[in-house]
Amino acid sequence: MEKCHFLIVTFPAQGHINPTLQFAKRLAKLGVKTTFSTSLGAINRMNKASDSLPEKLSIVAFSDGYDHGWNPNDDFGRYMTSAATRGSQTLKELIMAQSNEGHPITHVVYTILMSWVGQVARQLQIPSTLLWIQPAAVFQLYYCFFNGCAEIIGDISSSKTIKLPGLPTLASRDLPSVFLASNPDVYSFALPAINKHFELLQEEETPTVLVNTFDALESETLKAAVKLKLVAVGPLIPSAFLDGRDSSDSSFGGDLLQETKDCAEWLNSKNGASVVYVAFGSFSDLPLKQLEEIAQGLLQSKKPFLWVIRKSPKGEKLGEKLSCKDELEKQGLIVSWCSQVEVLSHPSVGCFVSHCGWNSSLESLASGVPVVAIPIWTDQTTNAKFIQDVWKTGIRPMANEEGTVEADEIRRSLEIVMDGGVRGEEMRKTAKKWRELAVEAAKDGGSSSLNVKAFVDEVAAGVIRE
Ligand code: UDP
Repeated sequence: MEKCHFLIVTFPAQGHINPTLQFAKRLAKLGVKTTFSTSLGAINRMNKASDSLPEKLSIVAFSDGYDHGWNPNDDFGRYMTSAATRGSQTLKELIMAQSNEGHPITHVVYTILMSWVGQVARQLQIPSTLLWIQPAAVFQLYYCFFNGCAEIIGDISSSKTIKLPGLPTLASRDLPSVFLASNPDVYSFALPAINKHFELLQEEETPTVLVNTFDALESETLKAAVKLKLVAVGPLIPSAFLDGRDSSDSSFGGDLLQETKDCAEWLNSKNGASVVYVAFGSFSDLPLKQLEEIAQGLLQSKKPFLWVIRKSPKGEKLGEKLSCKDELEKQGLIVSWCSQVEVLSHPSVGCFVSHCGWNSSLESLASGVPVVAIPIWTDQTTNAKFIQDVWKTGIRPMANEEGTVEADEIRRSLEIVMDGGVRGEEMRKTAKKWRELAVEAAKDGGSSSLNVKAFVDEVAAGVIRE
């Protein structure tokens, strides 16, 4: 253990940094020297509260060629090429520097879209492990896709369903949107990028994949991938919200902290479980048409709401463009950012209208808050299916033919989740049960803590090799 030095590398998006930084913290708290790395652009946006970092953890940047940060208007394909070439070069320099300073890296952990990191580790003969930051179910779907089922998955039409090992019966609307042939341009980068991960895994002797989930949540699926060992290490969310021990744990700071304070004060003034929290993650934007329907649905519900509408890349406040802005401001609070884990664990929050990004989904489960699911793309559609039909902590309203979820459907879903009625009551009870199981998995001696410890021990003993 003394000689172990983990390098944990992640893609510079908030949905990737949040869980990966939590994983790095868990390793460091076990007493293992750990270096966390992401792009310089992302690190410059992170909260500099280094006093909240465990002693054994340091943060070092690599350059992806976009040192002022990647902008959603930048060409993504060009960015990915730059990240792989410039990133490989600067990550190698970083690894060499650690070695020259007498702290050689002994194991590399990298996340989705970062297969080039696995390749760098291989070139330098350092063992490496993939940390999968989506659910095991989505890993299993890709695994099947790249291992003989591409045709059946690709061919699935709106009327057909599919049954794959370790997964429930799925319809086309439940599959990750990258499989939908109707959208080839958007996804031209995604399938090849994920395939690279599977190619790397195939070259390994004992492929182990760490997954941001927990045993009780996906037990069947975790066992389904025959040739790989999937190890559940989640939920990777700040421990303050699981065991109450570690506060001041959010990753991004700046002027957003003030908005977080405003949210807390506003929530304190509301009744228990009365507030609808609405947020669609850190990245995807909803069309104005969908925002208008959500606004009308909230107004019809007459419930107080806290709604995060992020500013556009140009800094415009999209909430200002809503036709019913004045009525909305009387009923709820619109902010451009908040500390989501803090909001979800506030007793006033009774429902989460979510895009079902995997972090948001885990955060809803770990805080026992039921969900109204409005997925947009990638794994969110699959996460929404599991929330509604497998974990039974939420409801996914139907979209119309244009893909928009209309106001009536949103109001109806909010009423089911939050008001009287057996279905809502059952959902709220089930959500509380999942909260307990999530806390149980993450606590000392819980399944995920034991899995992380066993992984570290195996690495230290040199068992996990390529
Ligand atoms: N988040 C937050 N405040 C917000 C919106 C999002 O803290 O106002 C955090 C959220 O808690 C989660 C992450 O940003 O950890 C979003 O990740 P997710 O996987 O849900 O969605 P993505 O941003 O990747 O689409």
